[in-house]
Amino acid sequence: MIGKTIPFDAASIRNDFPILKEEVRGKRLVYLDSAGSAQKPKQVIDAVKHVYEAEYSNVHRGLHYMSEQTSARYEEARLKVARFINAEFEQEIIFTKGTTESINLVANSFGIKNLGPEDEIVLTWAEHHSNIIPWQLLRDQVGCKINVVPVDDDGVIRLEEFERLISKKTKIVAFCHVSNVLGTVLPVKEVTKIAHAHGAVVVIDGAQGVVHMPVDVQDLGVDFYAFGGHKVYGPSGIGVLYGKRDLLNVMPPYQGGGGMINTVTFDKTTWADLPDKFEAGTPPIAQAIGLGAAIDYMNNIGLNKIAEYEVDLLEYATQRLSGIEGLNFIGTAPGKVSVLSFTMDCAHPHDIATIIDQNGVAVRAGHHCAQPLMERFDIPSATRASFGLYNTREDVDILATSLEKVKEIFK
Ligand code: PMP
Repeated sequence: MIGKTIPFDAASIRNDFPILKEEVRGKRLVYLDSAGSAQKPKQVIDAVKHVYEAEYSNVHRGLHYMSEQTSARYEEARLKVARFINAEFEQEIIFTKGTTESINLVANSFGIKNLGPEDEIVLTWAEHHSNIIPWQLLRDQVGCKINVVPVDDDGVIRLEEFERLISKKTKIVAFCHVSNVLGTVLPVKEVTKIAHAHGAVVVIDGAQGVVHMPVDVQDLGVDFYAFGGHKVYGPSGIGVLYGKRDLLNVMPPYQGGGGMINTVTFDKTTWADLPDKFEAGTPPIAQAIGLGAAIDYMNNIGLNKIAEYEVDLLEYATQRLSGIEGLNFIGTAPGKVSVLSFTMDCAHPHDIATIIDQNGVAVRAGHHCAQPLMERFDIPSATRASFGLYNTREDVDILATSLEKVKEIFK
């Protein structure tokens, strides 16, 4: 046995996830693609089902019973999210359709209003395309400049490099909490202090952060924090943008439509208060309520307990895969979480994924929507195994023996 034994009831947790009982090509499903999208516990599936079976209507519109019920559940979900990340006010939680839309909202609203040709944005080389392209689109509209913080060979992103690139010209510093390829945890609190000292706002892509560790946005001090429901065991089609109330209050709407107005005439329209100003149209109602159920599910297990279990599992997996000759890890930063990306000398990442899929092992292969990072490590693509709270050492063992088989095939 490698590592310490942790009292964490993985068997009963696995029982909560109906899909894990499915067989793939007659084999046990070994799901190692949670960083792509996590599976859903029956508590979440039931919550969504309940909405459609018993409590469904549009929100905030009708004066009838069903609409009141649905609206109450939808707002309860907002409160759960606010508590989950310790936002000071519920109105600081904007529901979107995912991390991607949350970041686009900031770029299109805050960005268009506040940036011009003299201004700069700081990103890192470790970003997902979702945290690169919205800023490029902004740059193309307002003429600002983008500076990129480098990543070292271990996948560490150094504070000194942020210090070097953040200046009085910087208006936005946007980076991931956790890299979806490297698993590196970035120094959010420290970078935020540097950014604020220069008058810049901080936007965190928390898609891979919030699922692996407790997040306290007030303690981190960040201005915006974005994440999606589907990676925290909740439904797809729902995302969150946390923003500080004072900033959101003075930002223009991102989209126009029903639900986000106070008064409308053909001459002039006035906006609704937060959070409605940023939630035009019918929102993802059942999905938001499902996200609330996912948060309850994680809280009931305990966020620290989940984090501790996953760290132990990652340690075990790292040691297990280190024993495979010709396997090279991408991302070995100290304190990394959740993902193991690698290449193998003997086979292409896509071939590896296709071959081990025959054994029921689901991993991701490709550029992981991080083409600049692939370029940085001089690889066209990588294979990635990523872990969730339902994975076990048995999953890791099956992964390792399947990779040994790949070596045999290409011998
Ligand atoms: N950022 C990171 C780091 C991600 O891993 C992902 C999902 N692969 C995204 C952004 C996009 O998230 P969403 O699917 O919620 O838009």
